[in-house]
Amino acid sequence: MKHRDSNIERDIVFSTPEVEEYLKEKDYSDALVILLRNQKFDWDLLSKGFDSLQYIKTKTFQFDGFTIDAQFNPGRIISTTADISHEAIEKRDCFLCLENLPQEQKGINYKNEYLIFCNPYPIFIEHFTIVFRKHFPQRISESFHTFLKLGKRLGKYYSVLYNGPECGASAPDHLHFQAVNKNMLKVLNQNDLLQKKYAEKIIDQRKKEVFGINDGLRKIILIKSKDERFITNVFETLYSSLQKSTNSQNEPMINMISSFDENNGWRVYIFPRKAHRPKCYYEKGEKKLVISPAVIDLSGTLILPAEKDFKKINKDNIRNIFNDVVIGKELFDYLKAHISKTI
Ligand SMILES: [Zn+2]
Repeated sequence: MKHRDSNIERDIVFSTPEVEEYLKEKDYSDALVILLRNQKFDWDLLSKGFDSLQYIKTKTFQFDGFTIDAQFNPGRIISTTADISHEAIEKRDCFLCLENLPQEQKGINYKNEYLIFCNPYPIFIEHFTIVFRKHFPQRISESFHTFLKLGKRLGKYYSVLYNGPECGASAPDHLHFQAVNKNMLKVLNQNDLLQKKYAEKIIDQRKKEVFGINDGLRKIILIKSKDERFITNVFETLYSSLQKSTNSQNEPMINMISSFDENNGWRVYIFPRKAHRPKCYYEKGEKKLVISPAVIDLSGTLILPAEKDFKKINKDNIRNIFNDVVIGKELFDYLKAHISKTI
């Protein structure tokens, strides 16, 4: 691995007087709006990526009380089919290491630990990647506090997303998060309906709430609170219990959303998983669908990089995809009971 020199370091941080003003107020959201505007101007690949969003096609499927979108997005083929085997990762240059980034790419500094970049292969109209400055494995146990804090600091416009190294992260060897517009995440938009119809309250303390949501496709643990310590406690309880019950040597499979607003505090959605990819990903011929669900898919927008798959996908496929990658009811019930007993 090559080392960065200080010139690269200076070049890569995006800064203008306006951005500095926002950062002084800890307003990362508005700083990112300026970064994206500038990068669309200065960086061809990125501007093409965002232009291509206008050609994206979407189909909406109605389920009982909520909807799931299928999005045809050819730009996502690299990410969807990423080979995350140990051998493949060893062989390639890490595309999140600062020295391997394109010359034109610039990022907003976050606490000298992370840089926030625009994603050149966007799913939504604003899509950022938050990259740890060092080449260090994707691992949430040591970075959950950052995940929460980022949710707060970007909370004006964005939610922060996490994909586990074995269930959606296309760079499992380099710690990173994503940020996308809050109003684009369907699970957030449809939260009230989902909660009313499918949620079971498993913890109800003053301004500290935890829900288990089973909507027939997904099993979600939702934590709502302003109390960081409480949220961390629930997360750690879930994490270790999932790790034990799935016999995981490494991190148990989880996708997560951290969303924050000043009035209500955090909403943290945790999606426990049992598989990286659904059976249809490995099929041949007619039965094959190239789809590799990560947090955005779990939140209700399924990404399909091949047009023929987009044309083909139906409600039965969607049920099977979720059934293949989401944990079963028995384990979900156990996790809920364990959290309610332990906290
Ligand atoms: Zn790296």
